[in-house]
Amino acid sequence: MPTEPPYETLDPADWGALRALAHRMVDDALDYVQNVRERPVWQPTPPDVAAHFTEPAPRAPAGAEAAYADFRSNILPYPMGNLHPRFWGWYMGAGTVMGALGDFLAAIMNPNLGGGNHVANLVEAQVIDWLKDLLGFPAEASGLLVSGGSMANFVGLAVARSAQAGFDVRAQGMRAAPQPLTVYASTEVHSCNQKAVELLGLGTQALRKLPVTADFTLNLDALRAALAADRAAGMRPIAVIGSAGTVNTGAIDDLTALADLCRQEGLWFHVDGAIGAVAMLADNVRPLLRGIERADSVALDLHKWLHVPFEAGGVLVRHADAHRRTFSLTPEYLAHEARGLAAGSRWFSDLGLQLTRNFRALKVWLSVKEHGLDRFGRMIARNVQQAHYLGELIAADPALELLAPIGMDIVCFRYNPGGRDDATLSALNKEILMLVQERGIAAPSYTTLNDRYCLRVAIANHRSVAADFDLLVQSVTQIGREVAPQFP
Ligand SMILES: *Cc1c(COP(=O)(O)O)cnc(C)c1O
Repeated sequence: MPTEPPYETLDPADWGALRALAHRMVDDALDYVQNVRERPVWQPTPPDVAAHFTEPAPRAPAGAEAAYADFRSNILPYPMGNLHPRFWGWYMGAGTVMGALGDFLAAIMNPNLGGGNHVANLVEAQVIDWLKDLLGFPAEASGLLVSGGSMANFVGLAVARSAQAGFDVRAQGMRAAPQPLTVYASTEVHSCNQKAVELLGLGTQALRKLPVTADFTLNLDALRAALAADRAAGMRPIAVIGSAGTVNTGAIDDLTALADLCRQEGLWFHVDGAIGAVAMLADNVRPLLRGIERADSVALDLHKWLHVPFEAGGVLVRHADAHRRTFSLTPEYLAHEARGLAAGSRWFSDLGLQLTRNFRALKVWLSVKEHGLDRFGRMIARNVQQAHYLGELIAADPALELLAPIGMDIVCFRYNPGGRDDATLSALNKEILMLVQERGIAAPSYTTLNDRYCLRVAIANHRSVAADFDLLVQSVTQIGREVAPQFP
């Protein structure tokens, strides 16, 4: 008899050894988070470490111990920095330990949330119900968890297009459009909305980016004028995108006015709430978001101000039928049955692009259960207070200049010791930012407002304390004095 080859699987050959390694991994991971404040916010990846990542894939096993050792020495020490209390760049979340453990457990169970009759789908449905409650959406509204704000905006705008096009976009495609379809937003709208409009076949030019007022919110008169002019020119306006927190300055458009206008004009009202929608939890922001509950669709990010580990976003759509009609396609091999594993009408793959979907709902669900929504609300409210605290520090220092009204938790300012034009100040502030980052002190990012380069501090961080902002301001002014002579 021929001997059988040894039975091989991807499970551990030695469960005891892997168990010990896994426990060490958890300990290392918790140390890493617990001690985050002691490390530099960011440091560049050294070239010898970077060179490591050009090696070809191994054909033979190195084993779990060796693979993990490689991670510990070459990956773990060089993070982006967004867990650190002084990371305020772009618009990130700072993560939570329980959220990370949720990601682990979701991967261990490894269900596919495309659909089917298993409990994970109920978890996602419950998380979506929680989001509806939070935003004041009706219980019969529809929703989906997605990778983040970009996909959430894409889904919302896709539903807007099919609901508002006036012809069967799915069957006929955009070439059947009797008139060009147009979408309206302010110049401050996030770039992912433009990507969505492009990918939906409307073209960049169909996204009408309208001027803002002094507080960086959409100018409603400009919107009314553009709608009238475009209609007169034969276009078919379909949707308005309101920003609930712009990425530059955190400005919140007048959502009630936009809801009224969309109703009068028969337009779909989409809200990009990637930053601000979850601030419905915070007493000091909620009143500013009035009107979000009237949107036809809202994009939310849970991996920003709720700190769920990346990736986690969500989209809510008021009209469940329109949502399903935009994405549902059920070939025989995906037929929904009345009994068994394929039972149930809740197939999330009917509501978005992805068929196979991970169990991202679990980390959200565990995080919310762990902390309760009110604590998230307090964390958000504190960040808003910290933004105003930073604003006071800036106001108190004659060499610092606030460049935009503080929108929620975003502060845009520059170092301006006087006697220099905007171009020189831009170069000077860019150098300050580079040094603040390279010295590992803090990680703000930057933007340009009215042609002025500014340091941009987006405080979506549950670890920041007041002293972190004191240190930022001291460092910016100290580095400013140090390098100003290079920028006469
Ligand atoms: C971050 C952001 C997005 C994009 O979301 P991702 O989660 O990065 O895909 C969209 N809109 C606004 C206002 C954002 O801040």
